[in-house]
Amino acid sequence: MSNPEQIGEILVQPDELNNRVKELAAEISRDYADLDQGLLLIGVLKGALFFIADLMRAIEVPCEVDFMAVSSYGSATQSSGVVRIIKDLDAPLEGRDVLIIEDIVDSGLTLQYLIRNLRARSPKSLEVCTLLSKPIRRPEAADVKYVGFEIPDRFVIGFGLDHQERHRNLPYVAALEPKAT
Ligand code: 5GP
Repeated sequence: MSNPEQIGEILVQPDELNNRVKELAAEISRDYADLDQGLLLIGVLKGALFFIADLMRAIEVPCEVDFMAVSSYGSATQSSGVVRIIKDLDAPLEGRDVLIIEDIVDSGLTLQYLIRNLRARSPKSLEVCTLLSKPIRRPEAADVKYVGFEIPDRFVIGFGLDHQERHRNLPYVAALEPKAT
């Protein structure tokens, strides 16, 4: 059952998501036009679920997909800084052109961990594409080549992003409104 009272201001509308995903896919297709082996997209579950599905369908260069699941927040809304791999990749990365697909970069701690971990597997190249970014939360610029939208420092839900596993199915990105008591 959904909790409509928890859905706050809409920050990114469905048509804005759709248009921006297509722009990112066009940029990625241009940047990776000349590959030996295809591009390998690594989706970070579960939040990047819809983003990677839409992005991959709009990318026009040969590409493959693999998934990783990591936990950083648990059920809280603040980063713990502790990252745990719940599901690892199926295939090695050695010599591959790899693009990490994230839902959101907040403090950047999860991404730092992922980049360190995946770099150690010797890919040919490693870049990051995130749908959302909260730049105000990071003291230094993160290593993100493709950013869909920069958003304010609010906890957001929808288009794959959850709060306690709910609201992923919203077709837009909205702020989570604290429940009135
Ligand atoms: P970071 O380590 O950059 O602080 O957090 C990254 C991860 O925390 C994201 O991949 C996502 O799972 C979660 N996260 C960060 N900010 C938000 C947010 O505003 N909403 C949701 N639903 N998850 C978030």
